Amino acid sequence: MSQQNLLPITWKTDAVEAYEHARVGRVFNHRRPHRYPVGVVNAEREEHIVQAVQIALQKNFRVSVRSGGHSWAAWSVRDNAILIDLGNYKQIELNETTGIVTVSPSTTGKMINDLLSEKGLLFPGGHCPDVGLGGFLLQGGMGWVCRSWGWACQYVKAIDVVTADGQQLKCNEKENEDLFWAARGAGPGFPAIITRFYLQTKPLPKHMRSSTYIFPKNHFKTALNWVKSIAETYDEDTEIVCVGLYIPDYEESVVLVGLVTFKSSEHEAIAALQEAEDSVPSGYLQKDFARSTTLQQEYMHQGLANPEGHRYCADNAYIDNDADVASVLEEAFTTLPSRKSFALWFAMAPVSRRPLPDMALSMQSDHYFAIYTIWETASDDDRCQSLVSNVMNKMAPFSVGQYLGDSDFQVRNTKYWGEDQGKKLMRIRKKWDPEGRICGYLDNRDQSGVEGLRNKL
Ligand SMILES: Cc1cc2nc3c(=O)[nH]c(=O)nc-3n(C[C@H](O)[C@H](O)[C@H](O)COP(=O)(O)OP(=O)(O)OC[C@H]3O[C@@H](n4cnc5c(N)ncnc54)[C@H](O)[C@@H]3O)c2cc1C
Repeated sequence: MSQQNLLPITWKTDAVEAYEHARVGRVFNHRRPHRYPVGVVNAEREEHIVQAVQIALQKNFRVSVRSGGHSWAAWSVRDNAILIDLGNYKQIELNETTGIVTVSPSTTGKMINDLLSEKGLLFPGGHCPDVGLGGFLLQGGMGWVCRSWGWACQYVKAIDVVTADGQQLKCNEKENEDLFWAARGAGPGFPAIITRFYLQTKPLPKHMRSSTYIFPKNHFKTALNWVKSIAETYDEDTEIVCVGLYIPDYEESVVLVGLVTFKSSEHEAIAALQEAEDSVPSGYLQKDFARSTTLQQEYMHQGLANPEGHRYCADNAYIDNDADVASVLEEAFTTLPSRKSFALWFAMAPVSRRPLPDMALSMQSDHYFAIYTIWETASDDDRCQSLVSNVMNKMAPFSVGQYLGDSDFQVRNTKYWGEDQGKKLMRIRKKWDPEGRICGYLDNRDQSGVEGLRNKL
């Protein structure tokens, strides 16, 4: 690692092992990209971020950013760019009077909630313990009980940024409000580098319980139609999912309906899960009603479902509210390409039926579908990726758009925002980064640049 004005930077021309570690060592997906930044800055403080941008300006390189390294398509790893890795830049400070927590972008959902839970508070961060808040919040953030607590980005009160020309700015509803608007939904096309988020927290509900109902895969339609029919009006502190997956007891894949509720008393938690228990259709293989759980246990389960050191391919679709959702999703749920892969339906109503605040995030429907294909060896790459493509192509006519968080624009380009919001976002990007200094959306051959995405189905 060479030092330039004490800047911790590893250049592409440095020792291969050190460069490779800096390039992809913090990338979650082990399907490594063939893209090579000119240098990687391991920023420890804000000043390093400003210095990195200045080097990029002087030498005419682009800039890419990594917070938690969990983007499926490794968006941070780009050619002809200085990659600013924020993994060593750490800050979490809670103002106990306002309940606002200030965090650096590499803070993870688990890190923030480990601190907050000691103070009786919660932030609805990502389900997986190690997802970075940087990428997660920029995309909107489907956090705990998103279906009624709302998108995690709705809890962002302000941000600090370093702009594409190296200025340090504060952004909120009143100052640099267009950047603040874009930070809630622009995803990896945000035209600046966020150095700090100011987040509103919630009181921590002290009692968590969960119910699971496991059906054979040939009962998929029954299971999904049931859970879909109760979801929209279900208790508002309860998260509801339907997952196609393999579990150890069965050779064939199964369909799991899961509910997790967050309440202030045990009595309320059990009562919240009763409606599902009373209406579950016959034919399930196993059930587990109102088991006591904790956020730590839920993080552990999510961590096991998304193991480290694996190759991943994820894709997703918001399914049209008027579609026959169970028929549209059946193939994806019942033809998983490996024992570790899973397909997910996430209930988004009633949030999907409420008007959103004025922000870039503007795409939703009642039905979020995602497929996470997980395997171990490069020889399975083509098979797993083509299965995902095949399933997604058939689903396309029933989709109204996608969530940035589980997308890969190199493979598919569709609609990610409402019509007006998409146009406004592309204008804001051009205003703040007219030269395309910050890498932006990684499409096929990384060409989108200043223009961004077309936002067309
Ligand atoms: C195992 C796993 C579980 C997941 N679970 C969820 C979930 O429950 N809910 C959900 O909504 N999503 C989930 N995701 C998707 C996840 O939110 C996105 O992949 C997100 O991009 C990850 O953020 P990151 O900071 O870790 O990623 P990174 O790869 O570090 O960042 C992704 C991109 O975001 C931009 N970016 C990041 N930080 C900054 C910054 N400080 N300034 C400017 N731009 C920045 C950059 O373009 C960067 O390349 C999951 C992903 C994985 C791998």
